[in-house]
Amino acid sequence: MRYLILSDIHSNWEALEGVLSAAKGQYDEIVCCGDFIGYGADPNRVIDWARENVSVAVRGNHDKACVELADLEWFNPVARAATIWTHHELTPANKDYVRNLAKGPAAVNGFEVVHGSPLNEDEYIVSTSEAAEAFGYVNTRVVFFGHTHLQGGFELSGRKIWGLSTPSNPMLLDLNADSAYLLNPGSVGQPRDEYPEAGYILYDPEDQFLFYHRIAYDVVGAQEKIRKAGLPGLLADRLAIGR
Ligand code: ZN
Repeated sequence: MRYLILSDIHSNWEALEGVLSAAKGQYDEIVCCGDFIGYGADPNRVIDWARENVSVAVRGNHDKACVELADLEWFNPVARAATIWTHHELTPANKDYVRNLAKGPAAVNGFEVVHGSPLNEDEYIVSTSEAAEAFGYVNTRVVFFGHTHLQGGFELSGRKIWGLSTPSNPMLLDLNADSAYLLNPGSVGQPRDEYPEAGYILYDPEDQFLFYHRIAYDVVGAQEKIRKAGLPGLLADRLAIGR
């Protein structure tokens, strides 16, 4: 079984469409590490698609905030404005789908999916010390996470942990049978590593085949919709610079 692993789509339909057309024919099922919505202008289109096409997903902190209007005190004013806008925009059926998303970790096919960390969907795994703590709570050798919007992740081999970067595109990750992995596909809809290209992973657990990908998409189209919706302009600007 080949999986398309996505995270942090954030209501960016143009980015999602770009990923789906680039990965077409190369996967059997879609798995998502959460944050379908929040920030972008197409929450209903993204959730309509998710309801039909995503096999396994966990909720992200923005998914939860957009339906419950909870935890808003932790959000900056721009994120808060987008959350409230999304809450009013979502149809009742789409709100139900988001409300029923499972809290991670979710088990898939010998691997797990979480949003932030295995312990807490709101926790960021950025440093090797944060990864070291997270590795203490994983149940499978390969775990996918999101939340940071940074493509890459961490490898644990013996007692050593190091960060994985993705210098080439696509990039094959040679999975070592003796290592454990926390892997981030990067954000589809709002990359934050100074590259605007949408990120994803293609993974086959049987063949131990894993590729990171980045693809260019219609950033201008996504920006125009954000401005037209009356969302904060910063949310459009950042897409062009990947921050
Ligand atoms: Zn996110």
